[in-house]
Amino acid sequence: MQYFSTRSKQETATAAEAILQGLAPDGGLYVPESIPAAELDDAALLSLDQYALTAHILKKLLPGVPGIDAVVEAGYRNKFDGEDLTPTVPVEKAHVLELYHGPTSAFKDMALCLLPHLVASAAKAVGQKEEVLVLTATSGDTGKAALAGFADAPHTRVMVFYPDGGVSEVQRAQMVTQEGSNVCVAAVKGNFDDAQRGVKEVFSAFQGTHVRLSSANSINIGRLAPQVAYYFKAYADLRRQGAVKAGEQVDFVVPTGNFGNILAGYIAKKMGLPVGTLVCASNENDVLTEFLETGLYDRRRPFHKTASPSMDILVSSNLERLLYFASDGDDALVASLMRDLNEKGFYRVPDGLLRKIQSEFACGKADDSAAFDAIRRVWEKEHYLMDPHTAVAWRVYEDYRKAGEGRPAVILSTASPYKFAPAMLTALRVEVPESGFAAMDLLHEKTGAAVPQGLASLREKPVRHRDVIDPRDMLSYVEQKSLLDSWQ
Ligand SMILES: *Cc1c(COP(=O)(O)O)cnc(C)c1O
Repeated sequence: MQYFSTRSKQETATAAEAILQGLAPDGGLYVPESIPAAELDDAALLSLDQYALTAHILKKLLPGVPGIDAVVEAGYRNKFDGEDLTPTVPVEKAHVLELYHGPTSAFKDMALCLLPHLVASAAKAVGQKEEVLVLTATSGDTGKAALAGFADAPHTRVMVFYPDGGVSEVQRAQMVTQEGSNVCVAAVKGNFDDAQRGVKEVFSAFQGTHVRLSSANSINIGRLAPQVAYYFKAYADLRRQGAVKAGEQVDFVVPTGNFGNILAGYIAKKMGLPVGTLVCASNENDVLTEFLETGLYDRRRPFHKTASPSMDILVSSNLERLLYFASDGDDALVASLMRDLNEKGFYRVPDGLLRKIQSEFACGKADDSAAFDAIRRVWEKEHYLMDPHTAVAWRVYEDYRKAGEGRPAVILSTASPYKFAPAMLTALRVEVPESGFAAMDLLHEKTGAAVPQGLASLREKPVRHRDVIDPRDMLSYVEQKSLLDSWQ
């Protein structure tokens, strides 16, 4: 199985090359030439543990990358706070898939624990000896998960750019205290989209040079593939809990930013998992909701800073992959839509394509006050605590259910509430203390929920990364840094 660029099928790569490159040379995203069947019937699905299940899915999606079982073992074993890596918890009539029990308390860990090992295996497969420089733009959670995953990993360096003032205090503390001789973190004066655009520009500028760049963003197929596996795991959980019959369809509601998580659900469906509707939940930055309703993708709109910062995104990279799949691989169409987006700031998809997408996706949005309201209600009624991102999805799920869909639904929970303690306290109508760490303590006092170890220990750690740069200086910053032998 080959990989193609979404913008040109002439641009081909093996799975290993796609992982190592991150982005295709023409700026497109790598996609498999066809989505492979999972070949897992109900009995097989229920017989595998999460390690074996993840390895099975990865082998299907990333053929030719060696040592997958060892990758999963090394990436996941003893890194999570419980035996079950991703518990599926019944809450009211829904099921909440908790994806935040990894080392950095956000769902990005599900992929970024594995990615460094996938990069190492891919490098071995293609015989690449040079160091890989992993560039990452982050809206808050990818940065820390990438740093934690790649810190001191052999033959790699990792560089993270986050929006200055655009992430929570705890998210920032997680990044700027990161240890490791191969890590570099800089704040960018701008928002996530500025940082992401900067990274894409660095990629083009380094084309054909001796520096081997890759990406830890969900533009990298090595990020996406591990995320497909937990949809299968969630379905198996529902089967074991007796919540669905074999083959019965399940809806998934996903708090969405860069469209990576929900696209993984789409891929799971195309691999054969009985997925009903994929519900895309947006916060006030509702560019995706508008797109799914009208077919118009328009990034020319105000950017809102919300209580769910990891979804504060106007250019959703992975939507490009959906356009490719849903148009049956119309690379010329995707290339022209992406040109429109770059040059005009918007694009509109043909009616037929929109209808096809609408047959598989629903959408909805919730602003901060709707999300806070959901946090408080669910806490008071069920004693279940969910973070502001999850709450956006919960609220959208409530609207969706009211509209009459009767299938069992899984809501993807993407972060620990403790990453956003001040917002949680506001939602619970508790006065918010000055510091994020005091807020963490207070949230613990009020709710009794356990504070994740990685977050509790943060306050003692010294700040190691202080650079703040202009988005226009990202290229020269990377050039300078890449010349240094060590970042110690
Ligand atoms: C990254 C992130 C999201 C958005 O996921 P995408 O794959 O970018 O759509 C949602 N919630 C949290 C907590 C995140 O870190």
